[in-house]
Amino acid sequence: MAASFILFGSAFSYASPYKGNNQKVFFPKKKPVTQTETVQGKEKSGQMTKDNKAPEKSEQKKNEAVLKLNVGLLTGQHSVVIEADGEIVVRDMTSGKVLNKFSKKNTVNFTYKSRQLCINGKAISAKKVVVETESEAITVSGDEYRGEIVLLNGSNGITVVNRVTLEDYVKGVVGTEMSPDWPAEALKAQAVAARTFSLYTKNEGKHYGDGYDICATTHCQVYGGTEDESPTVTKAVDDTCGQILTYGGEPIYAAFHTDSGGRTAACREVWGGELAYLASVSDPVGSPSRHWQVILTGEQIAAKLKAAGKDVGTLKKITLSSLNLSKAGSGDRYASGRPAKIVFTGSSRSITINGTQARSIFGLKSALFDFGNGRKENDMTVKNGQKIVIDGYGFGHGLGLSQWGAKAMSAKNDYKEILNHYYTGVNITKLY
Ligand SMILES: [Zn+2]
Repeated sequence: MAASFILFGSAFSYASPYKGNNQKVFFPKKKPVTQTETVQGKEKSGQMTKDNKAPEKSEQKKNEAVLKLNVGLLTGQHSVVIEADGEIVVRDMTSGKVLNKFSKKNTVNFTYKSRQLCINGKAISAKKVVVETESEAITVSGDEYRGEIVLLNGSNGITVVNRVTLEDYVKGVVGTEMSPDWPAEALKAQAVAARTFSLYTKNEGKHYGDGYDICATTHCQVYGGTEDESPTVTKAVDDTCGQILTYGGEPIYAAFHTDSGGRTAACREVWGGELAYLASVSDPVGSPSRHWQVILTGEQIAAKLKAAGKDVGTLKKITLSSLNLSKAGSGDRYASGRPAKIVFTGSSRSITINGTQARSIFGLKSALFDFGNGRKENDMTVKNGQKIVIDGYGFGHGLGLSQWGAKAMSAKNDYKEILNHYYTGVNITKLY
């Protein structure tokens, strides 16, 4: 699907996958543990039954089928075209009653008129219908999905939801986040992270009011249905079937990003709160374009600060210690080297922001950066018309798994080692 291919590219080189989530974080009730208290690589060896036997294959299949996700595809639609190779059955979801059956090779038009759902032009009283087919996939306005399609009579049109097993869902996610050509262990790490993130989001219930568990855009996680599946991704998902990352027995907020720039960020550096499993860890190998530069004049910096409601007048001085990863963690920089405090002094006042705020205000690829090349002093005087180099590293918020780092690690490590490196003190738990 066109939209997801655009986003596919963006996952490699642009924004964080979770830019919509940054303000809302779940904090585990359990006491946060420090890095020294955690057990790296500790893992449950599959879920056992009461008799301490591994579940039978059929039981595994059953559990897998039970865990379904409602993925919001579209909202506010006035026309939705559904096609399938096999018979299409439309049911009222509330009563379970079959409303329509369409024989093979059929196309069904759903429209929204006078606040009512219509099937092929005929209004129905049902507010929520499920469209099922016996064929492997179902097409919604040209894009193909597994599972069923649920149509909701929303306040301003039809809401389209794909009800799909968690495993099939993850098969449509991993390829939008990581190239299917990448090593198998990196794809497996991404599959476990994406599966975990979707369960976390479902549990958090942030789209509950919209009528689904998770949306299919960068707000939650990009999902493209069958078109974004590929044999290597499917294998990575099958090889890690049912595995998620847990901390304190709960699915973690499995954040990931393109390239940390050298060290991942700790939770507090980006969100200001604590999630012990999102600690700052080393990430030596990144993307080929890890190092970046942006050049702005003092006037441009002042204008961007003003637009963000932080007017300092004419910019006179920037105060920030120079970036030195080996000395990070003291003074005005966090442990990862990202700025904790940057002071902009102007003709009317001074303001202080951190690296994440600066990233957003100046539109930077990451929050791991420095002002000016090779300066020694913390204070940098800004003269009229002066060009200021912002010299930075990496891409994305820097939390959790670094995709390029995972790729590099996969040369020597398996996906469990990759996940245990980027998520501190977590367990890899098999749900089914
Ligand atoms: Zn969302």
